[in-house]
Amino acid sequence: MKQPFLQFFLFSIFLYLNNTIFAGNEPVILESYAVAVECLKGNRDYYDPTKSQQLQIEARTIAAKMGVQNSPVRVFYVLKRFDTTFCAFVDGEFAQTPVILLQSHEFERLGKAEQNFVLAHETAHTVQMQMRRWGPVILGLCTCLVNPVLAAKASEMISTNSYHYFSRWDEKDADLKAARVFGTAGGIALFERYIGIGNFQYEPTTHPTDRERIQYLKEWSVRHRNR
Ligand SMILES: [Zn+2]
Repeated sequence: MKQPFLQFFLFSIFLYLNNTIFAGNEPVILESYAVAVECLKGNRDYYDPTKSQQLQIEARTIAAKMGVQNSPVRVFYVLKRFDTTFCAFVDGEFAQTPVILLQSHEFERLGKAEQNFVLAHETAHTVQMQMRRWGPVILGLCTCLVNPVLAAKASEMISTNSYHYFSRWDEKDADLKAARVFGTAGGIALFERYIGIGNFQYEPTTHPTDRERIQYLKEWSVRHRNR
């Protein structure tokens, strides 16, 4: 096998594994991962079933607006406290049943527009996954056929940096998907709130900063007002 092809083939495999297995094993999310497992088991010490059910209906409606009909997404309104405020699991064993966790004490602090934005952002992560499961591998093979040099270049991106790069890309994409459903006001209010309480970000490298997020939401809003 030619070297660039081999490299890019490995790169494709890496992206696929990154999306399906490794992301689910990041130490920083292991705690919330365990919470998700308890919720899926139906452990009522962990979540409010009524509120969870209601938010799950909303998330599935949002997913339909984003192009995924009959989404299997599960939503849990979590009463137990853990480090992550809001998250979506779409990897590994959650690939078939994506799970969204919303920390009740953080969620209830937000205004309705912010809550909608949060739910839409997390739902967007589940939609991304459903739409792109084999995308990286197919894209990798196509790029290799068209331009092996480009393919070899891309393979150099196998590193933690590439994981963070793709993660930030996903976050921006999820924010803009949320904006398409609910507009930008809720997101801007949310990130301004985070700046106000000291730029809360437990791992900044995987997310754009709050200021960057406000900036691109405002740009998006201007672009879409002008149409
Ligand atoms: Zn996110």
